[in-house]
Amino acid sequence: MKTLGLIGGMSWESSAQYYRLINEEVRARLGGAHSAQLLMWSLDFARIKQLQHDGDWDALGNEMVDAAQRLQAGGAELLLICTNTMHKLVGEIEAACPLPLLHIADPTATAIVQAGLQRVGLLGTAFTMEENFYRGRLSERFGLDVLVPEADDRRDVHAIIYQELIAGVVNERSRRVYVEVIERLVARGAEAIILGCTEIMLLVRAEDSPVPLFDTTTLHARAAVDAALA
Ligand code: GLU
Repeated sequence: MKTLGLIGGMSWESSAQYYRLINEEVRARLGGAHSAQLLMWSLDFARIKQLQHDGDWDALGNEMVDAAQRLQAGGAELLLICTNTMHKLVGEIEAACPLPLLHIADPTATAIVQAGLQRVGLLGTAFTMEENFYRGRLSERFGLDVLVPEADDRRDVHAIIYQELIAGVVNERSRRVYVEVIERLVARGAEAIILGCTEIMLLVRAEDSPVPLFDTTTLHARAAVDAALA
């Protein structure tokens, strides 16, 4: 079994889900007392959030490279960034650390393609929904047609992530906001929805959506186990 290196704490609410999902998957596949061999470097999200909203991506790049190098020094053989948003900095990490990095968009897009779907709605932070580092990968490498919510909906989706979900706050009113945003994406033709922020799975469940949901946290964790056991 390979040793996984997780860059976590963004937020720890979703990192805890990664830890659980990866270990459950290893146990399901290997049985008995088996569990995952992994390291996590968990950051203080207050600082990360501030730097993101200040637009200081150089400092964030340094944080990500430092985390990757610490994990490598600790014996990690494969890197995971436990947040969609910080995949904006994959290039910086790959340039500074030779470990293979399992990109969160890839197992997600692969699952969508395998399901025979092409037109997807993307929910995530404003960075993920509005910039090209994530949407571009989905369309250019996997041929997906990616829809994002309209501006007001993007603002609400982003605010609920940063004001509630990263703090472990799950409330019914916010769930309804997300369901309405999903319904508007479906009305525009979305055949599936990507939960493109690793905390959204805490709020939105399969039964809340009229179309299939593709949860990046679960798919990324499962792909990590595939790679660790390959
Ligand atoms: N976990 C979130 C994501 O998947 C948002 C937190 C962050 O900005 O890293 O994008």
